[in-house]
Amino acid sequence: MQAFDYVRARSVDDAVTALRDPSTRCLAGGTNLLDLMKGDIEAPARLVDINRLPLNAVTPTADGGLRIGALVRNSDLANHRYVRERYPLLSRAMLAGASPQLRNMATVGGNLLQRTRCYYFYDTAYAACNKRHPGSGCAARDGYNRIHAIFGASPQCVATNPSDMNVALLALDAIVDVKSARGARVIPFAAFHRLPGTTPERDTNLERDELIVGVTLPPPRFTGVEYLKVRDRASYAFALVSVAAGVRVADGRIDDARIAMGGVAHKPWRAEAAERALIGHRIDPSVIAAASEAAVAGATPLRDNAFKVELARRTVARALQNAGAIA
Ligand code: SF4
Repeated sequence: MQAFDYVRARSVDDAVTALRDPSTRCLAGGTNLLDLMKGDIEAPARLVDINRLPLNAVTPTADGGLRIGALVRNSDLANHRYVRERYPLLSRAMLAGASPQLRNMATVGGNLLQRTRCYYFYDTAYAACNKRHPGSGCAARDGYNRIHAIFGASPQCVATNPSDMNVALLALDAIVDVKSARGARVIPFAAFHRLPGTTPERDTNLERDELIVGVTLPPPRFTGVEYLKVRDRASYAFALVSVAAGVRVADGRIDDARIAMGGVAHKPWRAEAAERALIGHRIDPSVIAAASEAAVAGATPLRDNAFKVELARRTVARALQNAGAIA
């Protein structure tokens, strides 16, 4: 790890002022950033510690939605009574992530910025990683790519976003609230993370000087939800495929649906064709089969991960079956 300066922010304004310096990064839970620094994958010259800022509240909004401060710990949010009762999809996704110890430290804002778990990104013995060193190549593309993307990849990068929380937040149409010295803005969740394209070093559309201050959820609208995560071992493992599904059933037919997938792309991946296959129909095996086929249409697997296509199809089908059963 390289030497760095450490400062503690006393206010949000303090933090965004510190972020005007391009060599400064925010320190919250530190569960990803400190690992990256220890491995010399990231080497900020200065850390601004934001842990004491008043961004740790979970507050119902006037319209029936929920405002979540960026520093709310993953465990606290997942186990929050209001979240468990009104946003069980989010609670289940968060409890599927990491370990209890990590969830006790990790924050919502940090989870949004969690970086890929591509082996070659973390192993600096491999020189070729466009995400670490733009223009150096991609060791995963022709290497061992079992855990990599089947949607939206580019010749420059085939990595996936590792977060469970992000998949649920996409399905819930969350909004990310950010602030900088230039002012405040909101970013719809679907526009927050990026596909790799020719700039895989950028995971999100958050500008370098912007601070995530919170996430806002619209009022709950689904009558049935499910989060399913398929992984190599039962706990403390990243998703090979995960699915967040929400359906709203009125008069026996689906009139609203969201299906988001994790572990399959550089960003949480929304299966809009699958959603369209559900609208107006009763949940039955033929409709679920059509939706799950639509969810994987256009997948482009790599040498080692063709299994993910069938796994994703089956996981979408099971998630819809479970969501429909409790609708
Ligand atoms: Fe790096 Fe992306 Fe290639 Fe992994 S997939 S080696 S993160 S460029």
